[in-house]
Amino acid sequence: MSASETKLNAFPVFMKVENRTVVIVGNGVEALAKARLMSQSSARLSIVANAPEAELAAWAGGNGAKLVRDIYAPHHLDGATLVFAATGEEALDARIVSDARRAGICVNAVDRPELCDFFTPALVNRAPVAIAIGTEGAGPVLAQMIRSRIDRMLSPSLGRLASLAASYRDLVERVLPKGAPRRAYWNEFFAGAPARAMEVGHFDDAIAAADELLARRAATQGHIALVGAGPGAEDLLTLRAHRLMMEADAIVHDALVPEAVVAMGRRDAERIPVGKRKGCHSKSQAEINDLLIELGRDGKRVVRLKSGDPLVFGRAGEEMAALREAGISYEVVPGVTAAFAAAADFELPLTLRGVSSSMVFTTGHDLKGGVLPDWAKLAIGGATVAVYMGRSIAADVATRLIEAGLSPDTAVAVVENASRADGRLFHGTLADLPSLQDRDDLGGPVMTIIGDAVAGANFNRSTALAVHDRAAVAA
Ligand code: SAH
Repeated sequence: MSASETKLNAFPVFMKVENRTVVIVGNGVEALAKARLMSQSSARLSIVANAPEAELAAWAGGNGAKLVRDIYAPHHLDGATLVFAATGEEALDARIVSDARRAGICVNAVDRPELCDFFTPALVNRAPVAIAIGTEGAGPVLAQMIRSRIDRMLSPSLGRLASLAASYRDLVERVLPKGAPRRAYWNEFFAGAPARAMEVGHFDDAIAAADELLARRAATQGHIALVGAGPGAEDLLTLRAHRLMMEADAIVHDALVPEAVVAMGRRDAERIPVGKRKGCHSKSQAEINDLLIELGRDGKRVVRLKSGDPLVFGRAGEEMAALREAGISYEVVPGVTAAFAAAADFELPLTLRGVSSSMVFTTGHDLKGGVLPDWAKLAIGGATVAVYMGRSIAADVATRLIEAGLSPDTAVAVVENASRADGRLFHGTLADLPSLQDRDDLGGPVMTIIGDAVAGANFNRSTALAVHDRAAVAA
């Protein structure tokens, strides 16, 4: 069989007809047949017949169709969604077809396929489920044969079951994440207890079964909250973060999150450290993703606790992608990022009227390449730059920014352990920054803020960064 033989010349689509008008023109049995077919839908029917046969007139009267007793004229088609030319007169049908086309309305001429824009299918109707059978040129006998076979295959209650499913859809979408959990729910809905109850006509039992199924699926459904723990101070946790930690079955945390913060969670929650801590075994990102998926599949409520804000240098993107892929529901709870905590400790305005109106969050690691990253130009333009994980490359950052044209006198603020009781503040200039790299007295996380806005900070509690200055201060 060649490819062209396997292609459809008429492609089935479902036309919206609710609150729309379908016009049928004709006096006799052809018009009546189309009217009966269309009356399986909620379309408004308008039958144009100058001399309707008695049966047609009676049917129209009894079935809410509008009977327009008039000689056909083009205006009868106004506002129609579909038109049937069923007059039995070739010339008149052809005229109706060309009027409809001119008005941009799809038209069917009964028994004149060459004039038709569309064909009506043989229909198995289990509204809202519809199965349309088209056989193109093979004729109505084949279509009817297939129709009756399918009709016998499908339960008469299928339509009611489908309507029930439609009424549960929003709820299911709210309660179950998309992907495997929702598919599993619907599989059981259509093949399990709800379907069986509907089959025997027990509508209330079907509803109860659908509810019970949803409750069961929701209860065994894990959920992962990617939660920002803030910079380290316990009272910089958000209320939402705290609530989720109190409800959690498991808390999966990075090394940077202090013990005291993790301890704010439910006492009997399983605590799983996964973070990188010098000298300790830490999990790879792929292992962490797998762990979260596994916990979710086990039906656990998990808090994935990350320092600061989870979406700032937290690799949350990879974890979210993995959870989405696995069909496990998750949410993100923002946290106070280290730059904000460091700025607060330093009373440092990150934006300063007339001085700095933009802000860069960077690791600085992209400065090592041959091409200057765009943010370096922003820095030269006055942006305040927050450097995460920048301690070990402080010299590179300073040198490259100075080479790029940023003044060596640009103010720099450094905060170790921002927000924590043991926090330490240092100030200096870009020229002093390289010294940071060689200091061995900094054990905690370090945030570096560079820019003219830094000059607006409060230096009363900070010590000078530069070695020569430190010596001077000590003396
Ligand atoms: N998601 C975190 C950042 C993780 S990257 C956030 O939004 O803050 C880790 C880096 O964050 C550290 O290398 C350090 O530069 C910075 N950092 C985290 N906590 C800090 C703190 N309490 N004080 C100073 N810097 C901190």
